Parts: sequence; C-alpha cells; structure tokens
Amino acid sequence: MGLFVHKYGGTSMGSTERIRSVAQRVAKWRRAGHDMVVVPSAMSGETNRLLGLAKELMPHAATPEAMRELDAVAATGEQVSVGLLALALQAEGVPALSYAGWQVPVRTDSAFTKARVASIDEARVRASLAAGNVVIITGFQGIDPLGNVTTLGRGGSDTSAVAVAAALKADECLIYTDVDGVYTSDPRIVPEARRLGSVSFEEMLELASLGSKVLQIRSVEFAGKYRVPVRVLSSFTPWDIPIGDEAESGTLITFEEYEKMERAIVSGIAYNRDEAKISVLGVPDRPGIAFQILGPVADANIDVDVIIQNVSHDGRTDFSFTVPRNDYQRALDLLKGKVQPAIGAADVRGDTRICKVSIVGIGMKSHSGVAARMFRTLSEEGINIQMITTSEIKTSVVIDEKYMELAVRALHKAFELDVAPTAEA
Ligand code: ADP
Ligand code: ASP
Ligand code: MG
Repeated sequence: MGLFVHKYGGTSMGSTERIRSVAQRVAKWRRAGHDMVVVPSAMSGETNRLLGLAKELMPHAATPEAMRELDAVAATGEQVSVGLLALALQAEGVPALSYAGWQVPVRTDSAFTKARVASIDEARVRASLAAGNVVIITGFQGIDPLGNVTTLGRGGSDTSAVAVAAALKADECLIYTDVDGVYTSDPRIVPEARRLGSVSFEEMLELASLGSKVLQIRSVEFAGKYRVPVRVLSSFTPWDIPIGDEAESGTLITFEEYEKMERAIVSGIAYNRDEAKISVLGVPDRPGIAFQILGPVADANIDVDVIIQNVSHDGRTDFSFTVPRNDYQRALDLLKGKVQPAIGAADVRGDTRICKVSIVGIGMKSHSGVAARMFRTLSEEGINIQMITTSEIKTSVVIDEKYMELAVRALHKAFELDVAPTAEA
C-alpha cells in the first residue's frame, strides 16, 4: 500500500457540501489501505476576504510589522479548512486529525507573505499516520525561526503539499483542482485549449513562472529538487469513481529526458497580468548605469523581470523593465525620488496596463523560427510588441493589456495547440 498526499484547492473546498465530497474521496483512498495526508486550501474567496479586511485597517504602506499581521490573518483561512475536513472525515467513520503549520512544524524563513519552506519535521506526521489517522495539514502556512506564523505567497498550498510529499517521500502528490489537468493554455481564456496528458518538469516550471496559476512556481521547483511525482487532476469527478481511474487521469509532471518524449514544438501559452512597466528615459549611456538604476530597486526587495535598454542617441538611452504590479508604486517613487536625480535621467514613466504573453516548449530548443512565427502572428493581429525576452524553451512579449486575450487565442491557433500533437522526429 502506498502513501499519498492529496491537495484540494479553494473551489474544491468551497462549501460544506464540497468538503463532504473531499472527505468521501479521501475516505475511499484510505479504505483502499493507503496512508493519506491531505493539504487543503482556504475555502474559495476566503483568503481574498481576509486580506481585504486587513487592508481596510492598514491604509499605510505595508511595514514589516504589518506584514507579520497580514500573515497572521491570512493563515486563518486554512486553519478553518483543516478542522472542517477532519470533522467531515470523522463523520465518514475515518479517524482524522488536523494540524496547523506550526504543529507539524512546517519551518520557513521570515519573509512574511512570501516565505520559503526550509524544512518539514516528519516525526509527528508519521506517528499520527502510524496510529491510523488521515493526517490533514494546513496549506499555505508555516512558522519562522522566531515562532511567527508565515504564509507562502498566493497559491502557496500547492507548495505546502509538494513539500510535505517530498518530506514523507510520498508515492505521489495529487493536486486536485477545478480543472482536470494542465492545459495548453488557461481554458478560461481559450475554450479550445487541450489537456496535456503529461508535461515535462522544465515546461511546467516555465509555464508556472510565466503566469499559469494552475500550480504555484515554488511547488514545481520543489517537485524538481526532490523528484516528487506530481499529478494535477479534477476534484469535480464523482468521488466514488475507481481509484485506478483517478490515478491515471489528469496531467502528470514527468522528469523524462526530452529526447525520449514526443513533443509539439510549443506545448503551452501563458499570460501574466500582474506586472507593470517602468521606463527611465534619457539616461546617460555610461558603464554602471544598469546597476545604478536596478541596484536600489533590488535593495528595496522588488523583483525585476523583463529588461531592455535601447540603442543610445547622443550619449543618452532609455531603460525599461517590469516589476510586480503590487510593487509598482514603490518602485516608481523610488526611481523618481532617488535614482532620477542621482543619475541625471530626463524622466521616469510607468504603465500598469501591460501584460506578458509567453509561448513555452521544449521543442523550441531544436527548432528555429518559432519566435518569428510568434511575432508574425501578433503583427497580423495588429498587436504592438513593447518588449521581448527569450530563453531556450520560451519566448515572452510584453504588450498592451487590452490585447491579452486576442494574443493568447491567436497564438494558440497559430501553433496548432488545439490539435493533438503527432510524434516529432
Ligand atoms: P486551486 O484553487 O485549486 O488552487 P487555481 O485557481 O489556483 O485552483 O488554479 C486552477 C486554475 O488555473 C484553473 O481554473 C484555470 O483557470 C487556471 N489555469 C491557468 N492556466 C492554466 C493551464 N495552462 N491549465 C489549466 N489551468 C490553468
Ligand atoms: N489560500 C491561499 C490563496 O488563496 C493559498 C492557496 O489557495 O493555495 O492564495
Ligand atoms: Mg491554486
């Protein structure tokens, strides 16, 4: 018999009725003889509600002290979920015990609102499993070295589940959600999107980092580091379907060598609306200027993503980059207030109405002309490209946000993602 970790997202835990269905599904796996650890998220909408309440009471910019309290508030959503799920399992006649992050403990660093998991103590979980319980552990939360409650960033329950699966060397981590797998693009935007039977770890890493919210990026990193088998599947199938059917469904993240896989050149399209663009104009073009602009931004703990520096004219150039939209105002104030006067730039401008659209595929490594096809497709739709960035297996463009859906759909069609792939040589 195996040891499995199940993770249920917000929609899957969205009502007492849904929680009962989760309990019935988990009970089915338990009755089949498996050791079961379940990691639920907060009920859908709950984390937003909690953070909304908190923000009403903190009109000021988030100080480190406020960040601590944001986590204290946000973590309660998952606290409710584990208790409710344990009650529902007990009602099914299945012994179950819930644990908050600090009770396991799930140890993290102290980066409130985006803490990283450092280690998970397996002793208490193992003892509880050995006593015959289904163990239910809060998603999203942990505890820092000083005993403060932390959270792992939005969507962080995925990471909790994969980290728990890694610590326990589980046979598989099943991520149950409201879609039946990883699709060629977000099925909410592209109705023709197709489910991928499997996706390579490298591609999943890119898709997640480029905005596909189906898995939090750090959960994919964890899966790669500890080689955790991860499957994304639906919690909306009837709970009583045979376990064998469930275990074959959804999308499996694979660690196979790319050469052994049959792949389309492009496997997926992601979009990200959570960034904003900042341009520093009329910058003196001299060595060290990128550092003088981006150094203070990094010191303020703001992540910079796409960067471009234009060709200079008369010794001056323009320098643009994107930052998370949440950090946009802070970055703009910093650049206008400190950096612009220090380097003698002509102006600093910002634009929050942008989005990043990316094509991802391992097959891009060995095929040329893929990026060109992307640019042609966008130009045929009359979409202007503001920034471009590429790596071996992805190409991203920054465009006006209003063209996001059009761009994603056009690219999905241009790369024939609505058609099942045939074997590539
Ligand atoms: P959960 O609450 O279960 O964690 P999320 O909302 O975080 O669920 O993630 C599932 C959602 O991810 C889907 O409803 C879908 O709209 C979105 N999504 C984005 N990109 C993809 C993709 N490539 N494949 C599947 N779902 C995607
Ligand atoms: N409840 C948290 C969130 O909404 C974590 C998660 O759902 O994964 O971000
Ligand atoms: Mg999620």
